[in-house]
Amino acid sequence: MCLVFVLVAIFFLIGFPKGKNTPLSALEHHPETSLMTEKPEIKVDLLTINKYSRPGIKRTEPVRDIVIHWTANPGTTAAQNRSYFESLKDTHITSASAHFVVGMDGEIVQCIPTNEIAYAANNRNGDTISIECCVPDKKGAFNQATYDSCVKLTSYLLGKYNLSDDAVIRHHDVTGKDCPKYYVKHPDAWKKMKTDIKNYRHTYGTLTEITAESEGSKQ
Ligand SMILES: [Zn+2]
Repeated sequence: MCLVFVLVAIFFLIGFPKGKNTPLSALEHHPETSLMTEKPEIKVDLLTINKYSRPGIKRTEPVRDIVIHWTANPGTTAAQNRSYFESLKDTHITSASAHFVVGMDGEIVQCIPTNEIAYAANNRNGDTISIECCVPDKKGAFNQATYDSCVKLTSYLLGKYNLSDDAVIRHHDVTGKDCPKYYVKHPDAWKKMKTDIKNYRHTYGTLTEITAESEGSKQ
């Protein structure tokens, strides 16, 4: 009897008040969490601000989708594609850019901060982040190193912006353009890539509290 009394007393003194307070303190903090995966290695080599490839316009809308592209320029490296974007400030041939270019060795080059808009996704430039992927030939399938880095980078960005697994689209889904070519011609390959991104995220991701910094105000 005595032991039961002590246990009940402990329950009331420690267990019960604590249990009663837990929902309240959870409400006070109300943390928002996102499924985050590790940031892949990124070479930050920002373009010069210019109106043909890096307008320097800060994003005013939240990021809603990550857009995948191909460079349409077989055999070129990430650095060469970044140089092409940079050259537009002098040549004025066209307006084009992307936030990231993924090369055939899996290297990732960042051209534009993610809190600025790129000229990549037409009417969706305001609420998307664009990733260009290099290709070995004109069929446009990504090689394994490019594919793997694209999966990791996309997964990281989904976590950073607290987006759902479905927030990954092709440039084709915005404009009907043949981009990224292989994944427009082969819808099954696109479906697989989306599944691979989802699986990567759910295998390696951890639920992490969103902070002002992870909202991407700096980069
Ligand atoms: Zn494109």
